Amino acid sequence: MKIFTGIKAMADAAEGFKRNGCSIGFVPTMGALHDGHLSLIRRARKENDKVVVSIFVNPAQFGPKEDLNKYPRNLKRDAGLCLREKADIIFAPSPGEIYPRDYKTYVSVKGLSDVLCGKLRPGHFQGVATVVAKLLHIVRADMLYLGQKDAQQAVIIKKMVRDLNFPLKVKVMPIVREAGGLAMSSRNAYLSAQEKRDAAALYRALKSSREQIRAGIRDPLVVIKKMKGLIRKNNIKLEYLSIVDADSLKPLPRLKGKILIALAARVGRTRLIDNITVNL
Ligand code: AMP
Repeated sequence: MKIFTGIKAMADAAEGFKRNGCSIGFVPTMGALHDGHLSLIRRARKENDKVVVSIFVNPAQFGPKEDLNKYPRNLKRDAGLCLREKADIIFAPSPGEIYPRDYKTYVSVKGLSDVLCGKLRPGHFQGVATVVAKLLHIVRADMLYLGQKDAQQAVIIKKMVRDLNFPLKVKVMPIVREAGGLAMSSRNAYLSAQEKRDAAALYRALKSSREQIRAGIRDPLVVIKKMKGLIRKNNIKLEYLSIVDADSLKPLPRLKGKILIALAARVGRTRLIDNITVNL
């Protein structure tokens, strides 16, 4: 396995893979890898000749008051995990390599980026779309692997790939959870043991929404009310709890089709997101 920090070295390696007729599976991450990330790397390993994992804490997707500086970084540990999963390349550029001083170009996916998480994190999804577009050009991916954990991000990147004619396929993999149900996240490292126990209520509420919908409830307000009750019992501050169409991210006045139930919450000082989908 090789670790590249320069764009040229990464692009040359990708060019070499292409020349040899190898398919490239790509897993973009911000590092601090956990089993959620590893599930994507494993799937990429199964389905491609070559696997590239990027590790880049993308400044463009953090707001001025967010946790860019304290976001966990541990390239050595991450490299060990990628090696174990038989990745071929880690691409770990510096912020200056991706955004040189005269950088000017941004990708924004209209309509999908200013709802749900985008409402509370202005500019976040523009930062995400921009870095993924750049990485896709550099890495020359044939297959892009994303996690359902970041459901809105997956919808936005799929739209960008379609709208900008990136020649690749996007695969969205299921959410990997801890034993108590909490969705795995690099930010879980910020949580105390008590906060982790409290945070498990988020998934319990999401599961209850699925049960309610399967039991025939079609009014989203009824579902949301019950969910809020389950979450309120614990010491959690909800940022949003929304039931939307899983593709358009538009609110559903009555539940039908492919439904995304998504939430963001602060547990202590840590911001967590989670979601569940139901197909009717
Ligand atoms: P991040 O490092 O948080 O930017 O995540 C990199 C990729 O891993 C994204 O596509 C995420 O959706 C995915 N991911 C993060 N956590 C999980 C999880 N618990 N299960 C599945 N995929 C995940």
